[in-house]
Amino acid sequence: MSRFFSNKYAHLTPYTPGEQPRDRRYIKLNTNESPFPPSPKALERAAAAAENLQLYSDPTALALKQKLAQCSGVQPEQVFCSNGSDEVLYFAFLAYCDKNTPAAFPDISYGFYKVFAQFTGIDYTMIPLQEDYSIREEDYFSLGKTIFIANPNAPTGKLLTLAQIERILQNNPSNVVLIDEAYIDFGGESAVKLVDRYDNLLVTQTFSKSRSLAGGRLGMAFGNAKLIQDLETVKFSINPYNVNSVTMAAGIGALEDEEYTRKNCGIIMENRAYTAKKLEEMGFTVLPSFANFLFASPPGGDGGSLYKALKDKGILVRYFDATRLREFVRITIGTRQQMDALLEATSQILEETP
Ligand SMILES: *Cc1c(COP(=O)(O)O)cnc(C)c1O
Repeated sequence: MSRFFSNKYAHLTPYTPGEQPRDRRYIKLNTNESPFPPSPKALERAAAAAENLQLYSDPTALALKQKLAQCSGVQPEQVFCSNGSDEVLYFAFLAYCDKNTPAAFPDISYGFYKVFAQFTGIDYTMIPLQEDYSIREEDYFSLGKTIFIANPNAPTGKLLTLAQIERILQNNPSNVVLIDEAYIDFGGESAVKLVDRYDNLLVTQTFSKSRSLAGGRLGMAFGNAKLIQDLETVKFSINPYNVNSVTMAAGIGALEDEEYTRKNCGIIMENRAYTAKKLEEMGFTVLPSFANFLFASPPGGDGGSLYKALKDKGILVRYFDATRLREFVRITIGTRQQMDALLEATSQILEETP
């Protein structure tokens, strides 16, 4: 820290992204990216848009909003576009939290919620998951706080039903409930269809996981037009050109090829079931996952050792050195080939372990 760094950030612990080491070629199963390239449609549109990079991107993101609205069955005024969904999460902390309205989220969830709360100076409550790592809906009733819930949750992969989400919305009529659907395309049911019924619902999604555009940085939110207007006010006060024109075009291209996304998600879900079964046969405890990853605990329950041993064999998974998490590793679901390499290496490690 330099002697010039603002005091208000002196105690900030920034988010730690999954490692992206360059020392050798790894099978990367640690950051929940797609193993598949972007749709050819997305690449084609991106290349065409690159020819106009001398111009600013459209600050209203109109064409992309219209396409998203059409694909999701909402109005363009109910859509917000952002530089990855991380950005709209940040904007939501700015827009819907303050001294009187603190934040609440599960104690085990996406690590960025806590970082954004600290960064924006918002008080927050972390609500413990149940014994089986699931969210108890009643714990989120009438809190008087802005609620952030990842559904499916990360890193557990567990899913709340739409009925459960509706009860949380009904029991917080005076507060925003943000449902972070980064992983919704891998078997869950989206809450976007509820935005007309609940003016306190904001749903965020991303092109990073199911649409193979993590490097493009594209996210979105769906909600009541007034909620979206609040986010626009924040955005136009920070960075009106938050989504670049190449990425915006790639996003439209990806949406024109939903068939490709559906097919890839289908493969991931098949590989997820396959990998879970094989790991269970090796004695792992595997949480039932609705995401493109598995949260799995090896026999003996030492996630850290397994993480290290896999890394030595050229396979990266994610390990969280924290209470209730260190028994597990989080494994991104990749191609069948990548999963077979993981299973082979894991089986060797288990044999070598005394
Ligand atoms: C990956 C992820 C995000 C952020 O994704 P972006 O790449 O910023 O769109 C948000 N929430 C959860 C739970 C995630 O896992």
